[in-house]
Amino acid sequence: MGIKGRIHSIETMGTLDGPGIRFVVFTQGCPLRCAYCHNPDTWDPRGGYLIDAADLFNKILRYRNYMEFSGGGLTLSGGEPTLQPDFCAELFKRCKDAGINTALDTSGYCEQKNLEKILPYTDLVLFDIKHLDPKSHIELTGRDNSKILENLSLIESKKVKTWVRYVLLPGINDTPEIINKLADFLSGFNFIDRVEVLPYHRLGVHKWEELGISYKLKKINPPSKEDLNCIKRIIAQRGLKVS
Ligand code: SF4
Repeated sequence: MGIKGRIHSIETMGTLDGPGIRFVVFTQGCPLRCAYCHNPDTWDPRGGYLIDAADLFNKILRYRNYMEFSGGGLTLSGGEPTLQPDFCAELFKRCKDAGINTALDTSGYCEQKNLEKILPYTDLVLFDIKHLDPKSHIELTGRDNSKILENLSLIESKKVKTWVRYVLLPGINDTPEIINKLADFLSGFNFIDRVEVLPYHRLGVHKWEELGISYKLKKINPPSKEDLNCIKRIIAQRGLKVS
């Protein structure tokens, strides 16, 4: 019997999670509880459905042409994919053998040994940083960020290309002081290829309501275009590519 993974859903023509057109697999289960999460229905590790890595890979192969002409590939997202390291490694290994680009979209909150299983087959890591301050990180996600920052260093030591993603939350992680610290911190890494600053949005709020969980960020509005551009400029001043 092959390796099975528990997934939430798949998206066959994703354009937001890595370069080109991507087959995106949303895995089930997440140890964080981000206050702005737009996929709270992925949190429960017992939810979703089981799928065999070999069967899923065969499905991915059907989209190969789209991936090839667009410079895309497979993205494992979530939830938190690194909770299922054997499944992720198996899928990525099959893709690498077939010449398909692999991207791991992770919060970084996982055991190092899990990442070490997946990274040898990973072309690109999409790595979320939510807040550099440990206390604010706990308030925002329910967990402290030390493990996450250690894992960013691990990825750097393995020389895996990384796109850092930072969701800009007005009043929470957007002051010039916080952004300057972030930019200083990120400029110390060699394998961070770009920083994506993503505006906070409320597209997933209906899911919180459906699940009966109270949404704490009701009073926060998405950032203005000017604020977003200003933050991007601060980060770009350190020589980092920003989008
Ligand atoms: S890490 Fe991602 S899936 Fe998990 S709670 Fe945060 S935003 Fe949601």
